[in-house]
Amino acid sequence: MSAIFGEVLTFGQGQGKEVRLRVTGDEFYARYETLDGYAALSDRDKDQFCYAILHQGALISSGVPVTEPPPVGIPRHLRDSEAVRRQRFAARRVTPDRAMRALRASSGAALTLGPSQGLLEGRRLTTGSVRGLTILVEFQDVRTTVSTADLDAMLNGANYQRNGNYCSAREYFRIVSTGKLDYANSVVGPFRLSRNRSYYVQNLLVKEALDLAVASGVNLKDFDSRNEGLVDALNILYAGQTVYDGELWPHNYSLKLQYGSVSTDLYLLTSAGRSADDLSIGTFCHENGHLLCRFPDMYDYGVAEREGDNIKSAGIGSYCLMGSGNHLNFGRTPAPVCAYLRDLAGWCDNEVVLNGLTTVEAVHGAYDTVIKYRTASPNEYFIVENRSKLGLDTHLPASGLAIYHCDILGSNEFQSGTAQKHYQCALLQADGHRDLETNENQGDGTDFFASVAGVAASSATNPSTRLWNGADSGLLLSDVGVPDDKIAFRVGSAPSGLLVHAESTTPIAIPDNEPTGITSVLTVDRVGVIKDLTVKVDVTHTYIGDLSIELLSPGGERVTLHGRTGAGTDNLSAAYESSSFPGLKPLVGQSVQGKWALRVRDLEGADTGKLVRWSIDAVIEGAPSVVTLEAKPDLPIPDNDATGVSSTLDVDRTGTVGKLKVSIDIKHTWIGDLRIQLVSPGGRVVVLHGQLGGGTDDLVVTYDSAAPLSPLSGLVGQGVKGTWTLRVADLAAQDVGKLNRWALEITPQ
Ligand SMILES: [Zn+2]
Repeated sequence: MSAIFGEVLTFGQGQGKEVRLRVTGDEFYARYETLDGYAALSDRDKDQFCYAILHQGALISSGVPVTEPPPVGIPRHLRDSEAVRRQRFAARRVTPDRAMRALRASSGAALTLGPSQGLLEGRRLTTGSVRGLTILVEFQDVRTTVSTADLDAMLNGANYQRNGNYCSAREYFRIVSTGKLDYANSVVGPFRLSRNRSYYVQNLLVKEALDLAVASGVNLKDFDSRNEGLVDALNILYAGQTVYDGELWPHNYSLKLQYGSVSTDLYLLTSAGRSADDLSIGTFCHENGHLLCRFPDMYDYGVAEREGDNIKSAGIGSYCLMGSGNHLNFGRTPAPVCAYLRDLAGWCDNEVVLNGLTTVEAVHGAYDTVIKYRTASPNEYFIVENRSKLGLDTHLPASGLAIYHCDILGSNEFQSGTAQKHYQCALLQADGHRDLETNENQGDGTDFFASVAGVAASSATNPSTRLWNGADSGLLLSDVGVPDDKIAFRVGSAPSGLLVHAESTTPIAIPDNEPTGITSVLTVDRVGVIKDLTVKVDVTHTYIGDLSIELLSPGGERVTLHGRTGAGTDNLSAAYESSSFPGLKPLVGQSVQGKWALRVRDLEGADTGKLVRWSIDAVIEGAPSVVTLEAKPDLPIPDNDATGVSSTLDVDRTGTVGKLKVSIDIKHTWIGDLRIQLVSPGGRVVVLHGQLGGGTDDLVVTYDSAAPLSPLSGLVGQGVKGTWTLRVADLAAQDVGKLNRWALEITPQ
């Protein structure tokens, strides 16, 4: 299905000059607006576009042409009510051409889900040599200025770059399939249809066009590469500009027309364009993605009468040919087929399984390779792809490493992301904004991961790598390189103990021109030392040059994140990282625990806004690990000898003593004879036992620095690393014994 997303298009009119309107929709339902935002529609009586007004929930013509000023008092952005929208959709879904209806199979329609292992049902022609038939037709009243030679070049040319096209359609499929699919078209015509263009809005022209082609000598057997009695692909291009109306709205569908032993199957109908200078490959490739590969649509129809709900979202946005990516660079550099669909098409010979790997390099344009992280469920997985702005990705909104959350049982109609209803292929937008799900845009500059020091995505981040059911998938990506031909990154199981995330999502209005401003506080309970810190701030404001934004750390460090820069720019959505933002560097090494405050002030009159959300993500040093060491010297203690015996334990980790326990096991018949000392690596001596206990037998005891008046408290803060020595001396004659065992337990600070 061919949808357009707020593009400005030029429309000819029966009466009056051409008009430019912004169009959103597809062959089933479309909205038109003037460039200044007034709803418009084609007034059949006047034969021109007029301003629309609302009547009982439905847009009707005001009778005032859009070439004149709008009627006084009509609001901008009027829309049909949802009920009317659904009625119109249902009416359009039934083709107006009653004669053709029976010949159209419903399975020919595109969907936003893939009932057949993620793909649409029906015959797939994803590999080998495929021969398409492309028929150019004209109307009695509209002749084509585009020649078959122009079309042949666009569809088949080896080095086609006319109008700034990246390549021909054939080359496009060769590139994204890594040579597996060779899709060539024979272009015939132009054939002149019997009626004026307006007739074909109500009457599907496919059969008449095909009859003309066959009558001229086209042999459909030449287009049955599989010898199955089916035409591989049928493309019919009509003269003149695209008509976004009725049966002329660009679309693809199935139509069973029998010619001898060969039948048609799926076809594409679209325009050849106003002139050869308008030719672009994007929509042709998108529609042939449906026809040949049975790719589903990766955007969201937003109409419940199809597969989903009534809420419109952007699906995969412009990051795939089958989303809105066919429109990039005015259709001249369509996005490649994303790795998710390439994998389903069988174009990826190499699968890099991330599970168990540690360092990976994602190569841009390696379209025969899919980098996948598997989960326990075979239908749900993650795919990582290098989408740096190179080659076919040159015109993407973002550049860097893409992470897709895939489920072949999902549908890009479902933006809510719940266990039951979620996308088939969702992009983990690195900025955490979910703009694709909320239909905010078709993608923006912060959707991919790029130049991330530390953790980029895990179960604890936003966006997270959790499964659709909320469980931890175990996928952790970190240390992502810069956008380039190759992007290195690390992957591993999430050391959740080392990640701290705190977030405030309660919007707070920022008082205008008020020096106190607002303060939002996040509390972190975890103990740890910051290794890496990211602060994300999301503010809506109509003039960010008014704003001062400061971060106050638990330790009292004050950092200016935004100091009244950006002048009249709208909205501030930024991630400040300690690795690249100098102001945050002093926080590395400080404690993460405590209250973090964000202060936002608007220091100038007029423009206003609000703090939408902010968060901190910290990578911290692991919880201090305890050192335990034990010695079993089994040493006799010489009687009445002040030198006594010594036993040592060597500690090879760094740090200082936070807590210390010493366990001792001495066999002796009179412990009042004994003096026991512990010597730290730095030489500090403490007395653990000083000839107490009289004639008691044996000393089996644990000393704890945390106990009141413990002699060990004198060693807290001493260096851990080095040799610890226990000295035991018997200072009186007669009774004797031996040092069986002793142990150290050090908890570093
Ligand atoms: Zn489509």
